Amino acid sequence: MQMNISRAKGTKDIFFDDMKIWEYVEENIKDICLKHNINQIRTPIFEDTTLFSRSVGDETDIVNKEMYTFLDKGNRSITLRPELTAGVVRAYIENGFSSMPTPIKLWYIGTMYRYEKMQKGRYREFSQFGIEVFGSDSYLADIEVISVANELFKKLKLSDAIALKINSIGCTVCRAKYIDTLKGYLADKIENMCDDCKTRYVKNPMRIIDCKQDKCKSAKQNLPMITDYLCDDCSKDFESLKSTLSEVGIEFEIDKTIVRGLDYYNKTVFEFISKDLGLAVGGGGRYDTLVEVLGGTHTPAIGFGLGMDRIILLLKENNLVSNPKNVDVYFTVFNSNIFPKVYKLINDLRDLGYIIDIDICNRSFNAQMKYANKIKAKYICIIGEDELEEKVCSLKNMNTSQQVKVKMLAEEIDNILKGGN
Ligand code: AMP
Repeated sequence: MQMNISRAKGTKDIFFDDMKIWEYVEENIKDICLKHNINQIRTPIFEDTTLFSRSVGDETDIVNKEMYTFLDKGNRSITLRPELTAGVVRAYIENGFSSMPTPIKLWYIGTMYRYEKMQKGRYREFSQFGIEVFGSDSYLADIEVISVANELFKKLKLSDAIALKINSIGCTVCRAKYIDTLKGYLADKIENMCDDCKTRYVKNPMRIIDCKQDKCKSAKQNLPMITDYLCDDCSKDFESLKSTLSEVGIEFEIDKTIVRGLDYYNKTVFEFISKDLGLAVGGGGRYDTLVEVLGGTHTPAIGFGLGMDRIILLLKENNLVSNPKNVDVYFTVFNSNIFPKVYKLINDLRDLGYIIDIDICNRSFNAQMKYANKIKAKYICIIGEDELEEKVCSLKNMNTSQQVKVKMLAEEIDNILKGGN
């Protein structure tokens, strides 16, 4: 019996034109990170489950409901990474990065796995681009980190589509005082709030702030906000962050409701919100205690994760997809004997940076022309037996239909392509 196997729910295949958009975004990321002197890191897709329960937090939706966790054949509890900060921090500790020159600045792109309800822009396998900077407790590190995302959105022409929202959730000291006040305020209201909020009230009260349930809205109308309870240090840092962001020309809004869903954040937190999708494109913040929590020495750190899938969605919805890299010259060959004789020429052109393709199916000339049209080749190069004898070829501009005869030399073809004839 024939069986149809389809891809698992919440996953997707990325190919052809879409793949070219991904590559375009990835190239911009690589370029921006290089210019910021940030190094790429790759960590495993699966990690010991404890890494996530300890860092992301036992009470978060991610750890509670969304992780792909299984026992491997050696009976170890393994989890497909639901986010990458924890893995990078583990790598920081395990590889002794703390003994290297500080700050350590790292970036990554990788797939994450969360068992979530599917909707537009929400998948079970998705990709994030992120950076993590270790070893600076200064708001200047916050600026540098935020500026990477800002620069990327500028390069992709998405600046108008995305708003940066920032907040400070204080340090462990001022947060503890604030949480007492928050709990006091909610004490006589929590009974009428949703079950999740009831649990949060006990385990992580600040997360009540970003609960989206209608049931909880009225109780939250006049909630005390952390920014009114920051200690002098946190308050000074937040003020410096805001004034320096303005000074360097990075637009932002203050959003006192941002607390972030993961447990490890402190002080600066931020989100990039898509105005059209009404969804977060990314978020991040400081996590000054996480390295210590996971067994390293005290190391202040800050980072963000941006959803690649949502960036691509925004580019497509805003018609901002750059010209895909189509074939520059498609070589048609009249018979297979010609193939080896033009092979040096096509590789010389590839060395010059051109995208070159050639028939490898022994198809008729007409079929080759049809194919070149379909793949939107910019030029075709026609080489028949006679041309081969004379060491010339005909180069046809597929846009203008203009055709010229040139010597079978990469420099000659290069000249024509550069001139756009
Ligand atoms: P988080 O790690 O939850 O702060 O998410 C950071 C960013 O990753 C979000 O703003 C989204 O752009 C993206 N993201 C998170 N979860 C998903 C998902 N299930 N599908 C697609 N993108 C996601």
